[in-house]
Parts: sequence; C-alpha cells; structure tokens
Amino acid sequence: MSDKKPFEIARETLKQLTAGKLLPTPLNYQKIYNEIAGIPQMPQFPMETLRDIAQALPTKTPGQQKQRGLLEYAIDRMNWDGVKAALVAYGGFVPPPAEAGSGAASPGTLPGGAGDTTLLSQGAPALTPEFFKQVGRMIEFLQPALGNDDARFMEQTDTLLKAVKKPDVDAVQVKQLLVSYSDRLSFVAEDQAEIRKTLLKLLHLVFENIGELSIDNQWLSGQMDALKAASGPPLTLRRLDEVERKLKDVIFKQKDAKGHAVQAQEDMRKMLATFVERLSQITQSTGNFHAKLEESARLIEQAKTITEIAPVLKEVVGATRDMAYDSKVSRDELVAMRERAQATETEIAKLHQELDRVSAQSRHDSLTGALNRKGLDEAMEREVSNVRRKETPLCVSLLDIDNFKQLNDSLGHAVGDNALAHLATVARECMRPQDTLARYGGEEFVILMPDTAMEKGIEAMTRLQRELTKRFFLAGEDKVLITFSAGVAQLATDEKGSDAIRRADQSMYLAKRSGKNRVVGS
Ligand code: GH3
Ligand code: MG
Ligand code: MG
Repeated sequence: MSDKKPFEIARETLKQLTAGKLLPTPLNYQKIYNEIAGIPQMPQFPMETLRDIAQALPTKTPGQQKQRGLLEYAIDRMNWDGVKAALVAYGGFVPPPAEAGSGAASPGTLPGGAGDTTLLSQGAPALTPEFFKQVGRMIEFLQPALGNDDARFMEQTDTLLKAVKKPDVDAVQVKQLLVSYSDRLSFVAEDQAEIRKTLLKLLHLVFENIGELSIDNQWLSGQMDALKAASGPPLTLRRLDEVERKLKDVIFKQKDAKGHAVQAQEDMRKMLATFVERLSQITQSTGNFHAKLEESARLIEQAKTITEIAPVLKEVVGATRDMAYDSKVSRDELVAMRERAQATETEIAKLHQELDRVSAQSRHDSLTGALNRKGLDEAMEREVSNVRRKETPLCVSLLDIDNFKQLNDSLGHAVGDNALAHLATVARECMRPQDTLARYGGEEFVILMPDTAMEKGIEAMTRLQRELTKRFFLAGEDKVLITFSAGVAQLATDEKGSDAIRRADQSMYLAKRSGKNRVVGS
C-alpha cells in the first residue's frame, strides 16, 4: 500500500491518464489509481453486462422504475453495494406472480435437490426450525375447519405435518409438499364454503316451514323473521348462538302448545260424539212419544166406558213423564257439554296467554329489544368462557339513566317507555356488533364489550354519551336530552361475571354521586 495521501494519488493518476493519452473513463481512472495506491486490482466490473440486465428489467410500476434508476446509477459508479441494494429492493416490487402457481400445479418443475439455492439463500434467515413449527401449527389449526372427508387431503396433511416436525427439516421437500397441499386445499376450502352456503339455505327452508306449521301464526311469524334475520350472512359464532337460542325457544313453545291443542281437539271430538248421540236419543224418544199418543188417541176413540179410558190416560201420563225425563236428561247433558266447551275455550285462551308469557320470558326484552336478565346471564357465561379460552379482556358496563323518574313524571310513563327504546336503539347502533346490550332493570342497562380493556371500555361508553347528546329523543315535537351515568369494570382473572357487574354498579353510583352524566372506571 502506498504512503501517498489520497489527493496526491489522485493528482498522479490524472497526470498518468493524460500522459498515457488514455480515455478518462471511471474504469481507466480506477485502474491507474489502484496501481499508484498499491491497491490490488479488483476483478473487472461487468458494466456492460449489468447495463444489459438493467435494460431488460421491466418498469411497470413506479417502484420498479425507481429501483431500475438506482440500479443504473450504481452500475455507472461501479458500486456493487448499490447494485445489490437496488436489485433486492426491485425484488420487493415484483408482484407475487400467478405464474408462480404454475409451479404449484406441477411439482415436477420445482428446483429440486439440495441445490435449491433460491429457497435457501433468499429465505435463509426465516427458515428456522421455529418457522417450520409455526407452519405445522397453522396447518393443525386449519384442519378442523376443513373437515376430514377428503382422504387424499388428510394423507397429504399428515405427510406435510410429519415433514415439518422432523428435527432436521428438509426445506426443499417441505416446499414440494406444501405446493401439492395448497393445491388440494383450494378444492377442500371451496367445498367447505359450498357446504356452509347450502346448510344455510336449508336452515332458512326449515324456518319457513316451521312458520307454516305454526298454530299461532302471529306470535310465530315474528319469531321466524327474527330467526331468518339472525341466520343471514355474515355468519359469526355469536349470531349462530343467537339462532340456536331463539330456535330452542320456538321448539319448546311449539311442543308445549301443540300438546295442549291436541288435547283440546280430543275433548271437542268426544263432546261432539256425545251430542250427536243425545240428539238421536231425543228424536227417538219424541218418536216413541208420538206413537204412544197416537195409539192412546185411537184407544180413547174406541173406548166405550170411562174405565176403559183410565189405563189409556195412565199410559199417556207415563209416556209424557218419560218424555219429560228424557228431555231433561238431554238438556242437562247439553248444558254440561256447553260448559265443557266453554272450559276448553278458556283453556285455549289461557294457552295463548301462556304463549305470550313464555315469549316475554324468552331472552329478549319486548320493550327495548335488548337481552333480558336471562339472555344476559347466558351471554355473560359465553363471554367469560371466551375470555378464559382466548385470554382476551372483557369490559362490563352498567348504565343508569339520569333523572328518569322526573322524565316519567313530567311527560308520562308511555313517553318514558319510548325513551328507553330510544336509548337501546342508539346504543345498538353506536356500539360494535360484537358488543351485547341487555336491560338489567327498569332504566338500567348492561353492555358487554369483548376484546376490550378498561381504557377502551370507558372510551366506548363516553362515545355513547356523546352520541345521545347528538341524537335527541323526540317526545312529540319536544327534543328531550337523555343522559346516563355509567360504571365500567374489566373482568379480573377468576372473577365471576356477576361480580364484575357488581363492581360496575358501584362505579355507576360513584358517577351519580359526582354529578351524573359521567363514566367512571372501577
Ligand atoms: P337517578 O338519576 O338517580 O338514577 O334518578 P332516577 O329518577 O333515574 O332514578 P330512580 O331509581 O329514582 O327512578 C327510576 C324510575 O324509572 C322509577 C321508575 O318508575 C322508572 N321506570 C322503571 N322501569 C320503567 C319502565 O319500564 N318504563 C318507564 N316509563 N319507567 C320505568
Ligand atoms: Mg335506577
Ligand atoms: Mg336512574
């Protein structure tokens, strides 16, 4: 290495370039500079070849255009680092080509053997045992969603899992297996989607048919509409849960009502049979009576003495008494039958009332459409089990309308009812679809917010407060501002849902005490 300073080397280089009448190209300059400086000559920079390559690179996107510019710039300066950086970055702008899938369709075209340097060198840092473990885990998690109807696919899954779990994973083999696996996976996934769609269609058909079979159309048509709406896409587990609960309600009530209706019908049938029998008896006994009277009249006409008439009269009196008796029995029986018919009618009316009662007792509150206490208990159970399973946070909020009694007193109870329904509507529209709204008591509501920690829970409730100030409740022409106070609690580890509600309730009271229209965290 020369002990000359860089500017001296540069000056000397220029001198020699001129003296040697060499063209002042970067290549010539570099060569002489290295000679003077005592730097070993680097292998020649393949400028022309690289330029050809750069020219051949497509520039379909702005990203590709920029990187090709940078590449050309680096080539001009014989800067290998620049060339490398530009090419790597260019690679990032190449869209994952559909043509790459053509490799997937024919595993035979894959670069095979241990010489697959593309796979190994480019992805090397990612292809750790941990990476393959993740791939294995993903495939295992995916499996339940794909079912096990396709034996060939099951076999492929098995082989692939074994390959990724091997201590010394063969990346090339795994790649090949993945290609055929994903090929088959696309069919299996398509099948599953089709099955889901068909099942949903069947479910709708079932709902329509239950509606047709109903003995109480009015009640059931509402339930069926709710079921159809709940079972429409997008289908989530939460909505399916709701469908299941609603359907159970319907089936239970249908069964109960049908049992009673069949009994009532049977009673009616028996009564009709008795009635017809009685009627024929009446006709028969009046027929006998007439025959007797005619016979008596003939005997009286032929009678020559009063003693001959006496037994005839006795006969007539007897026949009349019998007739009166028969009539009385028949009348009594008819009265009894009428009473029984009335009792059956009352029974049917009671049955309808019972249907309404059970309907009201279902999981929804009829005034606000929110879940009722029973529905809340079930929803809470589900959410708490989700929290335990997925280790996600759950926020519970309890809100109580401010000065509601005053609103009732000044505008009337019916307006109060509408105000409750209004609050429920705004809450439903303002909260996320996965949140659950339940009416906890008179003017108190509970909101369950899954995947939500305390801070976000408070934010959501404050947002609902703001929304209520924007969306006035209209009592006739008057705009009425409804406010509420709320407490928010995040379910603690091992805490029961009801305890979290209790904590939210305590915080709600703090909110009331500190001036109302506030949200307080527990
Ligand atoms: P605070 O701000 O302290 O909560 O006062 P408040 O008046 O809201 O509370 P309070 O508990 O004194 O009154 C609640 C009122 O809610 C009393 C009750 O008549 C009324 N209420 C409860 N359920 C219903 C309902 O279904 N409809 C109507 N219209 N009013 C109801
Ligand atoms: Mg209250
Ligand atoms: Mg109140």
